[in-house]
Amino acid sequence: MLSVNLRHLEAHEIHLEGELAAAGLDFGLRDEMIRAEQPLRYDLTVEKMDDALLATGSLQLILDCQCVRCLKPFKHRLILEDWACHLPLTGEEKVSVNNDCVDLTPFLREDMLLEFPQHPLCKPDCGGLKKGQAQKTGGKDKSESSAWAELDKLKL
Ligand SMILES: [Zn+2]
Repeated sequence: MLSVNLRHLEAHEIHLEGELAAAGLDFGLRDEMIRAEQPLRYDLTVEKMDDALLATGSLQLILDCQCVRCLKPFKHRLILEDWACHLPLTGEEKVSVNNDCVDLTPFLREDMLLEFPQHPLCKPDCGGLKKGQAQKTGGKDKSESSAWAELDKLKL
């Protein structure tokens, strides 16, 4: 869990740098094509505004993916270079504070999840298994259509 202490923030901004274990993030992935087992690297600055916290910095996570087309395992690097998160301390959207501490983990988790690939591909133009099958059927269609063309000729 990655948290900041509000009392420390009163004096000056806080710089946070390190790794957060994947187990602590608990992405709740159901997709077998994507696994997040590596730690999340963070390099953040947190400052206190009038009635909010502002966290900015970079987040980096390496995912173990399986290509949905060719089933090859590969690593996918997620980088958020200019991540920024505004955390209100008042109002309806306010973050929960425990012993002067605000847990940043859920916000990291949420924003990283948005960056996960929907359909992981080992490379953008992966031919994979599906394309191979499509080519076969494509060839078949062609020979069928030419057979019909031959029939048409006979009718004429
Ligand atoms: Zn592939």
